Amino acid sequence: MPGRHFLFVPGPTNVPDRVLRAMHRNMEDHRSSVFPELTHGLLRDLAPVFGTTRGRPFIFPGTGTGGWEIALTNTLSPGDRVLAVRNGQFSHLFTQAAINLGLNVSTIDVPWGDRVPPDEIGAALRADSAHAIRAVLVVHNETATGVTSDIGAVRQAIDGAGHPALLFVDGVSSIGSLPFAMDEWGVDAAITGSQKGFMLPAGLALVAMSARAMASTAQARLPRSVFDLRPMAAQNDAGYFPFTPPLSLLYGLREVLTMFAEEGLPELFTRHTRLASGVRAAIDAWGLALCSRVPSAHSDTVSAIVVPVDIDARTVIDVAFRRYDLALGGGLGELAGRVFRIGHMGDLNELMLLGALAGVEMSLADAGYDVPLGAGVAAAQRVWRGQPAAATA
Ligand code: PLP
Repeated sequence: MPGRHFLFVPGPTNVPDRVLRAMHRNMEDHRSSVFPELTHGLLRDLAPVFGTTRGRPFIFPGTGTGGWEIALTNTLSPGDRVLAVRNGQFSHLFTQAAINLGLNVSTIDVPWGDRVPPDEIGAALRADSAHAIRAVLVVHNETATGVTSDIGAVRQAIDGAGHPALLFVDGVSSIGSLPFAMDEWGVDAAITGSQKGFMLPAGLALVAMSARAMASTAQARLPRSVFDLRPMAAQNDAGYFPFTPPLSLLYGLREVLTMFAEEGLPELFTRHTRLASGVRAAIDAWGLALCSRVPSAHSDTVSAIVVPVDIDARTVIDVAFRRYDLALGGGLGELAGRVFRIGHMGDLNELMLLGALAGVEMSLADAGYDVPLGAGVAAAQRVWRGQPAAATA
């Protein structure tokens, strides 16, 4: 199809042209005496994106899923107890990874569309008077439902229970797009991948570990080899990697971190909020609801939109893809067919999103939903021009 493909799945996201150019280079000797400049610069500039000066960032070949494994295998031993909150498909998979690795997992299950409940975490930890639970696992931004949880409140619940559990946070669809305050929230392992807010192809697992998490690497007995933080930390100190690093992605990451610094992280976060507000106004104008139930939890990186019962969201997605070259995210797990998702993170601006919103409107209409064409686009335009969304009517 001529023209640009419209990629609006919540990851992978659009790779900026300058990042593509930065990755387009020949290979080089990763053991050269100048290589440490690249490694040290990347690790230094990654830290503020995680919101840490005390934690230690790492770059592994892998993806977000690999990041879960890095956090778990480097800190825990077979049979260790962990407490995992499930409020969507990715928290379900994070939990499953812990089970697969041989951990003893207790879960707190909340309806998909709700956020992580700090009070229930506090209650579960208070009930664990022997302090057997070693870690709490939560997802900051549940990409399946478009729900952002309050990680600071989770930390308060853990501390309020006087419990020493480590806090592991999946920030795959938040870190690099939404404020993430690893130090302030007392996060012990923060996990992300390269293909969402970092605007790169998939291929990197980016994690940051607290001093406490690093200290547990010595006692942890879960098997690990390529994901072992100990050789990685030792080699990184010297500016190297324990294996051949994915050089193109490292150069892409270098460019992304430069872009983050140029825009400024606070400005980048504000842009995501502004863009998300316009998308939400459009959804409202379509007469549709978000899967996320509480307005303060609505995600600024992804909106999961519930379709009326007589419409199959898969039809909307398929029409958008085939007819309008617009890629939307599908409903995952129990949400299959019930929601479609618009990713609004990364290299985006208002006009790109207006194109996507126009495409969604046409696809909804083609799929049989009676939507006044232009209503969502106009609502978003009003928000982005600085007028209240209420003026839509
Ligand atoms: N966690 C969340 C919140 C995600 O959105 C995803 C992927 O979309 C993952 C984990 C899995 O990451 P990856 O596909 O990079 O392994």
